[in-house]
Amino acid sequence: MNKTMKCIVKVSAGPGNLELWEKPIPSPGPGEVLVKVHLTAICGTDIHIKDWEEFAQKRMSPPTTIGHEFCGNIIEVGPGVSKERIGQLVSAESHIACHKCSLCLDGKENLCVNTKAIGVHVDGCFAEYVTIPSENAYVCNPAVSEENNAMLEPLGVAVHAATKVELGGKIVAITGCGPIGLMAATVAKKLGAAKVICVEPNSYRAEAAYKMGADLVLNPIGCDIVEEMKRECEGLGPDVVLEFSGNVGGIQAATKYIRAGGSIVVGGLPNREVPLNFTETFYRGVNLIGISGREMYHTWKVMKGLLDSGMDVSGCVSHILPMEEFDKAFELLASGQALKILLRP
Ligand SMILES: [Zn+2]
Ligand SMILES: [Zn+2]
Repeated sequence: MNKTMKCIVKVSAGPGNLELWEKPIPSPGPGEVLVKVHLTAICGTDIHIKDWEEFAQKRMSPPTTIGHEFCGNIIEVGPGVSKERIGQLVSAESHIACHKCSLCLDGKENLCVNTKAIGVHVDGCFAEYVTIPSENAYVCNPAVSEENNAMLEPLGVAVHAATKVELGGKIVAITGCGPIGLMAATVAKKLGAAKVICVEPNSYRAEAAYKMGADLVLNPIGCDIVEEMKRECEGLGPDVVLEFSGNVGGIQAATKYIRAGGSIVVGGLPNREVPLNFTETFYRGVNLIGISGREMYHTWKVMKGLLDSGMDVSGCVSHILPMEEFDKAFELLASGQALKILLRP
């Protein structure tokens, strides 16, 4: 085996500053596994890191290898990890929980106050090899396609949102058709939603939403989305909104068109505060439900079941590029003419 590997490193603070580096292959520490990465995926988080937004400034101390969505095989284990894990095809829960804080002890590891994130606080998977805690290495089904297995982490966010409330037989609106919103359309259909209506202004993404299972895609620009949505939903609005746009106007509109007694599950993160009409929203019995990451490991179990029984979200992959072409990948993402981009180390 080579002693070094290629990896994409955030080399220093500030916008840009991503470089392809040659680094020593890490060895797994106590409780860790070493994974040979087969396929990895670019997430919105990686764009925040590249652009050096507040999220990254608060959490990172470069140089750090970025990336947290991947699949690969365990090739070595550290002290305390069973040798039986060697050879397993795995993906990773990107949040490393402390297991000591009150939230962890309460079974809410996804909300751990001491969370460390792969590819943010510790070196990530835009690399030929990555070390991760053994408990974060989730065993994949080799019969599921590599594209699906490389995207379990973001798919988990879609599944987490879609399983917060019952979707069977419901009219479900999905706001924002980035990769997670697109995956949520497929998940909602698989979970038995009667009708899935996506809200997305970008026509490239809207087209993808139809392929991913949307029954209808509404463009909120140039129409009264509140009226339009109600008209499509028996005059009452959708039963459930899965919000992934992070768009302030989009969220406000959702609180107006959601059916009385309905639920809005919030997965998108607006970059500013959202003024909300409490009376109009809560007097109508509307539930606002927040989600963060994936429940460890309940969401993973549900996701595994959905994929094992034939669900396929690979339709949200627009490009698979060699890892060396990461600059091109980020340019494509900025252009709006890309969905999920996978990188092959
Ligand atoms: Zn991600
Ligand atoms: Zn904790």
